[in-house]
Amino acid sequence: MFFARINAIFSKRYIALYYLCFLTHFRDFKLHMENDKQLHQWLDDFKLAHPLVIAGPCSAETEDQVLAVARGLSNSDVSIFRAGIWKPRTRPGGFEGVGAIGLKWLQKAKAETGLLMAVEVANATHVKLALEHDIDVLWIGARTTVNPFAVQEIADALENSDKIVLVKNPVNPDLALWIGGIERIYNAGIRKIGAVHRGFSTYDKSKYRNIPEWQLAIELQSRLPDLPLICDPSHITGRRDMIREVSQQALDLNYDGLMIETHTDPDNAWSDAAQQITPERLKQICRELKIREETTLADDFNFQMAKLRASIDETDTKILELLGNRMKISDRIGVLKKSENISVLQALRWREILVKMIAEGQEKGLSEDFILRLFRAVHQESIAHQEKIING
Ligand code: PEP
Ligand code: MN
Repeated sequence: MFFARINAIFSKRYIALYYLCFLTHFRDFKLHMENDKQLHQWLDDFKLAHPLVIAGPCSAETEDQVLAVARGLSNSDVSIFRAGIWKPRTRPGGFEGVGAIGLKWLQKAKAETGLLMAVEVANATHVKLALEHDIDVLWIGARTTVNPFAVQEIADALENSDKIVLVKNPVNPDLALWIGGIERIYNAGIRKIGAVHRGFSTYDKSKYRNIPEWQLAIELQSRLPDLPLICDPSHITGRRDMIREVSQQALDLNYDGLMIETHTDPDNAWSDAAQQITPERLKQICRELKIREETTLADDFNFQMAKLRASIDETDTKILELLGNRMKISDRIGVLKKSENISVLQALRWREILVKMIAEGQEKGLSEDFILRLFRAVHQESIAHQEKIING
């Protein structure tokens, strides 16, 4: 019972966030808004027994297509229908959206299905048109969140609006920029706000279209725990066969909802064809997703958890001890290098360590990606120690 109470007080979400934010490249900065319990209210008002689901095509293409997708999604877990009307394309020549005419199609879809309607807005004109057409949810796309001028223009155009405004993460993994966008919307008097995690561009080869960098979204949760957080597995994966897996990962991290691109004929979609799924597939995914509770009152579970956590804590202390020892050895190497005027960095030696550790890590079931991140951090710390000694 005792553990149950402790668990209830410090819900899994808060504890997990607290731990994780210190594991990541946590950089402190002051928020220009308070975490506000009210931020969750708009989502609570949906009174859902499952995570919020936003679905619809990447782009509105024709009136028939919009209506067909909306009909396919009515009577499902979907509460909000999404469709891009103005499409920010990486290069000119792609389909840039049908423009304002599409808003009329959305109005029809709303009248017929009762679904709330969401569009992407990137400037004040988009906002004005969306408001004139009774759009319920406006989202700021990743290519717009990077630009504070554009976000401010949107915030000003929406001042004190009671529309729901979702802020996608910027294309680059910059938490301050993402929070900055949210703050600009909040400071314009808007209280129905959500964050959409759609992953980040990367130069590295990856199985994702946009790498998730989960720890960054987790850090956002730790700063603003009451801000609804929605995952967009479509833009993270870029592939329809990975949507379910990434959606489940998000729910396991206590995300509040999902935004999933859905089309009646995904292969022939005018944009983002590879990542769209049919309404039938979406409904199947919604059925299959496991929704886990944040806490439980089951004493046995809480007892087992407490034991395992104590064991984790002990192991973590040992890891720190070992790292401390490793740095002491590193310091001695620094003294030695100084005596012979040898450079801090020996690239060949560093590569040797990495190759060896990746192979050893694999034997222990540790991913290459983890070993790389871990040893980069360890190596960085070693260098800092040695630099201090050599220049001391
Ligand atoms: C979209 O949702 O279709 C879109 C353009 O997304 P993002 O801004 O995440 O690229
Ligand atoms: Mn898209």
